[in-house]
Amino acid sequence: MSDIIQLLPDHVANQIAAGEVVQRPASVVKELLENAIDAKATQIKLIIKEAGKTLIQVIDDGVGMSVTDARLSFERHATSKIKTAEDLFELNTKGFRGEALASIAAIAHVELKTRQEKDEVGTEIKIEGSEVTSQEVCVTPKGTSISVKNLFYNIPARRNFLKSNSVELRHIIDEFHRVAMAHPDIRFDMYHNDSEVFKLPTSNQRQRIVHVFGGKTNEKLVPIKEETDLVTIGGFVGKPEYAKRTRGEQFFFVNNRFIKSAYLNHAVNAAFEGLLKDKAHPSYFIYLEVDPNSIDINIHPTKTEIKFDDEHALYAMLRSTIKHSLGQFNVAPILDFNRDASMDTPYEYKSKVAQTPHIEVDRSFNPFKEEKSSSSSGKNYTGYKKESAGDWENLYVGLESEMTTPTSNENDFSSVQFESTEVTGSLFEGDKKKELEQHTTYQLNRKYIVTTIKSGMVIINQHRAHQRIVYEELLRNITMASAVSQQLLFPLKLSFSKKEITLLETVKEQLQNTGFIFGEFALGEIEITGIPSVASEKEVSQLLEQLLSDLENEVPDSGFSQTDLLAKSMSKDIAIRSGVDLDPEQQKYMVNSLFACTEPTISPDNKPTFITLTVDEIDKKF
Ligand code: ADP
Ligand code: MG
Repeated sequence: MSDIIQLLPDHVANQIAAGEVVQRPASVVKELLENAIDAKATQIKLIIKEAGKTLIQVIDDGVGMSVTDARLSFERHATSKIKTAEDLFELNTKGFRGEALASIAAIAHVELKTRQEKDEVGTEIKIEGSEVTSQEVCVTPKGTSISVKNLFYNIPARRNFLKSNSVELRHIIDEFHRVAMAHPDIRFDMYHNDSEVFKLPTSNQRQRIVHVFGGKTNEKLVPIKEETDLVTIGGFVGKPEYAKRTRGEQFFFVNNRFIKSAYLNHAVNAAFEGLLKDKAHPSYFIYLEVDPNSIDINIHPTKTEIKFDDEHALYAMLRSTIKHSLGQFNVAPILDFNRDASMDTPYEYKSKVAQTPHIEVDRSFNPFKEEKSSSSSGKNYTGYKKESAGDWENLYVGLESEMTTPTSNENDFSSVQFESTEVTGSLFEGDKKKELEQHTTYQLNRKYIVTTIKSGMVIINQHRAHQRIVYEELLRNITMASAVSQQLLFPLKLSFSKKEITLLETVKEQLQNTGFIFGEFALGEIEITGIPSVASEKEVSQLLEQLLSDLENEVPDSGFSQTDLLAKSMSKDIAIRSGVDLDPEQQKYMVNSLFACTEPTISPDNKPTFITLTVDEIDKKF
C-alpha cells in the first residue's frame, strides 16, 4: 500500500486552527483588542458593522509594526511575545500563541495598516483566506489598524451558524466590556453601524465600571481590598440588595485579564451567604494581582480559564475579604430597609385591614405616645426612617447619602450591629440597651411584638425574629461545636428510609455540633439520646424530616452552605410560631436577643423580621 499521510496545506491548517480561536465575531474583537493592549495603546477604537459580520475594525495608537513584522504577524506561531518555553511562566501579555492573526486571516478579508513611531511611512497589507493580495507603503498614523471583513466568507457552514445580529452584538459588547474593565487607564470608543455605543475616557476602576454599566452603578459598589504575599485583591462587590436573578455583572480579572472561575465565584457567593434573596446572584468586579509564575493560563484555547497554584488559599482570602467589606460598609442592613418597604409591609397591612383598624391604632398608639416623649432625649434611631419611604427611588437616594442626610444618626440598630459583629452579647450595652429594656413591649394578635424607639415604633414578627435568633445560635454552635445538649431520659427511635439515613449521615457531624447525640445509625432507624437545648423533644422528628426535605431539594456543594442550610432548616421548626402567647419577659428576651443578632433585620429566609412605623407616618394617618 502506498503512503497515505500528507501535510495539510497551510491555509487548510489555518482554517482548522481558526475554528479554535474564532468561534464568532466576538472572538475576533477579543483578539484584536488584546493585541492593541499588548502594543501598549493608550487609545483604542472598535468599529463594528452588522454585529461584526461585515466589519470588525480595531484602531490603536500602540507601537505599531515594522514592515517585516507586519508581514510575519500573519504567520502561524508568529509572536513577539514569547521566545522560549520559560517565558510562558512569566507572561505579562494577553497574547502569546501567535495564532490569532493567522487564524483570522484564514477566514476573512483582512486589511492591516501599521506604523512605528520612528518610521515616516507605514505598511498596508491585504490578506484574503491566508493569501496576501497586496503589500504597500502607506500613510497612516502611528499605531495599528486592522479591519476584518466578511468573517467566515469561505466557511459557509460557520457563517450560517452565526446568530442574529443582536445576539452577536451582545457577545461583542461582552468582550468589549471585559477588556475595557481590565484596562481603565486606556481610552476606549466603540461604534456600531456608525453610531457611538461606548465612549470610555481614561479613568480609574470604579469610574470605568460606572461608565460601562451606567451612573446608577456607583451607589451599588462596595470596595474590597486585601494584600497578601499570595495575592492582591481589589475591586468591588455589588451591595446585596442589588443582586439579580440573572448572573449579569460578574467579573474576575487576574493580572488585568478577564477570567472565569466557578471556584472563585463560589467563594464570592459564600461571602454573601445569608444576605441574598433566593437564587439571586451578587454582582462583582474583582481584580486579582498574582505572580505570573503562580498561574497557568495555558489550559484553555481562548484563555478565559486559568489555574492557580494555591486555589484554596485564594478562595479563603477572597471570601473573608468580601465578608469583611460587606460588614465594614454596613451593607447588610440596607438590604432590609428595601425589603421592608417594598415587599412585606403592604401585605402585613393588607391583612390588618381585614380587622377593625381604628381599634388597633388606638390600642397601640396611646401607650407609645408616652414613651415617645419620655425617650425623646435618648438615642435617635433615625436610620429606620429611611425604610418608610414609599417608593424605591427615594429609598435609594436616602441610603446613598447616608452620611449627609440631616436626620441621619449613626446610632441605628444596624450600624450598632456591624461595629462589633463578634461580641454579639454586648451590643446593647450602655444607653441603647437600657433604652430598649425600659421600653414596654406589647404582644399584638399573638403574632407581633411591639415596642418603641425614639422615632416611632418597631413591630417585630415573633416567628421570624425567633427564627433569626435560633439560626444564629445554631450557626455558632455548628461552627464552633459549642452546643449544649439535653440528654433524653428515654432514647428516641425514629425510622427513616435508607436514602434518608444516608443523607442524614452526611450532616451527622454538624447535627452533633448543634447538640444532637446519636446512638445507633442503623438500617431503617436512628437512635437519638440527646437533642439541642434549643429544641424540644416532640419537635425532633418533624425537624429532621424538614431537614431531609431541605437537604434533598437543595444539595449545596460546600460544607459551608450545608451548615447554613442545616441551621436554616432547623430554625424553621424550633422557632416559636405565631399564635403563641408570650409573657412580657419572653417578649423582652425576644427583642433583646433579636437586636443582639449579627443580622437582626432579616429572617434566615431573607424576610423582614420587623418593620418600623415612624411618628411621622403615624402623624400622617391623623
Ligand atoms: P500573539 O498576540 O499571540 O502574539 P497574534 O497573532 O495575535 O499573536 O499577533 C502576532 C504578532 O503580531 C504579535 O505578537 C505582535 O507582535 C504583532 N501584533 C499584532 N497586533 C498588533 C498591534 N495591534 N500592534 C502591534 N503589533 C501587533
Ligand atoms: Mg494576539
